[in-house]
Amino acid sequence: MRVLIVGAGIAGPTLTYWLQRFGHEATIVEHAPQLRAGGYVVDFWGAGYDVAERMGILPRLQDEGYHVREAREVSRSGRRITHFDPQRVVGLSGGRYITIGRSDLARAIYDAADGTVETVFGDTVTALHDDGGRVQVEFEHGTPREFDLVVGADGLHSRVRRLVFGPEAEFERDLGITVAAFDVAQYRPRDDLVAVMHTEVGHQVLRLALHDDATMFCIMFRHDGQLPQDDPAAQQDLLRRSLAGVGWEVPAILEQLPQARTFYMDRASQILMPSWSRGRVGLIGDAAAAPSLLAGQGSALAMIEAYVLAHELHEAHGDHRTAFSAYQQRLAAPVRGKQDAAIGMGAAFAPRNRMQLLLRDAVFGLMTVPPIAKIAIGRSLVDPIHLPPVPVS
Ligand SMILES: Cc1cc2nc3c(=O)[nH]c(=O)nc-3n(C[C@H](O)[C@H](O)[C@H](O)COP(=O)(O)OP(=O)(O)OC[C@H]3O[C@@H](n4cnc5c(N)ncnc54)[C@H](O)[C@@H]3O)c2cc1C
Repeated sequence: MRVLIVGAGIAGPTLTYWLQRFGHEATIVEHAPQLRAGGYVVDFWGAGYDVAERMGILPRLQDEGYHVREAREVSRSGRRITHFDPQRVVGLSGGRYITIGRSDLARAIYDAADGTVETVFGDTVTALHDDGGRVQVEFEHGTPREFDLVVGADGLHSRVRRLVFGPEAEFERDLGITVAAFDVAQYRPRDDLVAVMHTEVGHQVLRLALHDDATMFCIMFRHDGQLPQDDPAAQQDLLRRSLAGVGWEVPAILEQLPQARTFYMDRASQILMPSWSRGRVGLIGDAAAAPSLLAGQGSALAMIEAYVLAHELHEAHGDHRTAFSAYQQRLAAPVRGKQDAAIGMGAAFAPRNRMQLLLRDAVFGLMTVPPIAKIAIGRSLVDPIHLPPVPVS
């Protein structure tokens, strides 16, 4: 089959890898002019980790990742309030847990695919006509082409989803939290391999030193109004206004905004769809079922969904109806479980009131006690997802 994959993030290249392994021809179209670099880091474990292992990329991920040794909560004055060793969490996962730059993960996956994959950067789809036998695809820049299948792996604000399934508002669950993430060079202090957090009512600011003397900041805050779209300057103004008066290093961190190497800001939201496919068009990753960063597993789910879809297409000998249906049947319930569990996590990142803040700090403090850490986190480290074995082709 000739499959067009829209989006070269985490899900798209994973699907490319597995489709190629099963003898299909994949073309990727990616809006950005090249693979993205820098940006925020993701924690990565569970069945997604198993997919990465099956792709042979674990040594590279371990090498490029971060072995964070302390998660530290600090007061307005920077005094350590409480802390725990995240390696305990890693231990609970049997060592199968990686913290890595999202763009490093995406690139490692992309590099694992056969170097002959056709990737069209700087373009996107503008229309998809499914005539039952093929999909005629129109592009913003390229000439129209025909594919057997089109898979949208184009993230939370998927254009494929909008073109084929309907407007985003029909599928979005807004979690009421806005997230900003950016990275800068040569920020001080660094505190290597320590995730330093400052949490007040309504927001949390996290600092993590990255490789090559870079530092990442991830800020979550409650904001009910409209978010300026596609306007980083207006978004940064909103961030400054929202964090005015916040203690710790926050004024110095906000001063770094003009020097930011990458800047991301968006609502934390989820995508819930009754069906992940229509005719010859399917969705994977955030486009199909974003769990939000509060779930901490969007990357892993994106890889799982890509692997399972490729597997089902192989098992169904290319019968896309059977494959799309089996793909959704296998994953819809566990993915929905992760999405629902994430809703309750908002209070841990941006407590609504003083009571939630105190409760959050108390739970954070108790994470130093191994049995409590096991109860609090252990279960979420076990995926209720059974990965089908790699078919023998
Ligand atoms: C701050 C933050 C922290 C996070 N932390 C974690 C974490 O700890 N653990 C975790 O597992 N997940 C985390 N996530 C979520 C995770 O990043 C996503 O779930 C994951 O990247 C989804 O992968 P994807 O391939 O579906 O989408 P993406 O990674 O978003 O990739 C989509 C790709 O499609 C491209 N694209 C978009 N529109 C178009 C278009 N119209 N045409 C062509 N290409 C297009 C984009 O440029 C991009 O390359 C976090 C997210 C954020 C924002």
